[in-house]
Amino acid sequence: MSQTSSHVFLEEPIQAASTMRALVFHGANNISVERMPLPRARVGEAVIRVTLTTICGTDLHILRGEYPVKPGLIIGHEAVGVIHELGDGVTGYEVGERVLVGAITPCGQCTFCLSGDWSQCGGAIGGWKFGNTIDGAQAEYLRVPNAQANLAKIPDALTDEQVVLLADIASTGISAAESADLQIGDSVAIFAQGPIGLCATAGAKLKGASLIIVVDSDPVRMQMSKQVGADVVLDFSKQDVVAQIKSLTNGIGVDVAIEALGTQATFENALRVLRPGGTLSSLGVYSGKLSVPLEPFAAGLGDHKIVTTLCPGGKERMRRLMTLVLHGRLDLTPLLTHTFPLERITEAYQVFGDRRGGVIKVAIKP
Ligand SMILES: [Zn+2]
Ligand SMILES: [Zn+2]
Repeated sequence: MSQTSSHVFLEEPIQAASTMRALVFHGANNISVERMPLPRARVGEAVIRVTLTTICGTDLHILRGEYPVKPGLIIGHEAVGVIHELGDGVTGYEVGERVLVGAITPCGQCTFCLSGDWSQCGGAIGGWKFGNTIDGAQAEYLRVPNAQANLAKIPDALTDEQVVLLADIASTGISAAESADLQIGDSVAIFAQGPIGLCATAGAKLKGASLIIVVDSDPVRMQMSKQVGADVVLDFSKQDVVAQIKSLTNGIGVDVAIEALGTQATFENALRVLRPGGTLSSLGVYSGKLSVPLEPFAAGLGDHKIVTTLCPGGKERMRRLMTLVLHGRLDLTPLLTHTFPLERITEAYQVFGDRRGGVIKVAIKP
């Protein structure tokens, strides 16, 4: 009797300390919160206790079986947390420090990283590891690879909510204007105002655009776009947006057109409103085939530039984005429209996926 009770008493805390709750992907439209082994930090790694995460549009593609990941994987790739364990070789950090970890975790050592292409670490899309090739952030704990390059300390003055969107959508959205080398005074058109498009709008403003025209049809998103920096908001379901944008730019077209959805129609429209010599900055993830219409492309003679960007990551990128928030240049908290505990994350997926209740982004608290 006493043996049995002492056995149970001893095992309980051990079990509690060696497992965690996490969202596990089992196959298309099959995800659930379950107990998984608590990750341990190996050489060069860290484990953080996640205090806030979110759901990305990419996670919806994974859930629907449109982007393949292996069954049994913990998904999610945005993490704010507290350092729980540091592996050998990780220096300059203490257990208990608050950190932001980008969706992209470059190694900082390979040919791609050392060529400046951090997001393509190790090969195409290789910088994106969380919830893609290794266990992700929709969990109580997250193991961070190459921790020395990827743990960005959060200034005390900033809350988790103020920084969580910097891990992915803000870094990606803002990069559209950076990759386009947007110049002070440039005119910009942005196609789609989902979370990434809204961040692209904020980025165009940060980079000094003189006129920011955005295109969407969702009233909540159109309203939010004004809040983050849009000057003119066009509804593609009610207007000929290409003609409108040409007219707003004296028939010339915009200096920079940003595609933030990943469809043939938005890509084409971005090209149609672009001035000769302008830059089409593409953020969308396309499927099937993408074709270039020859007339707005001037049959290949218009000196148009087409650039693409995968979310920039690594701790220096996160530090820079956090300074924008710290000094009042960027506030994305209005985009966090809903909050759910981790136990109810599958419900959060439904709300986010079906765009219920004016949702833009959901905060998930483990
Ligand atoms: Zn994402
Ligand atoms: Zn690398």
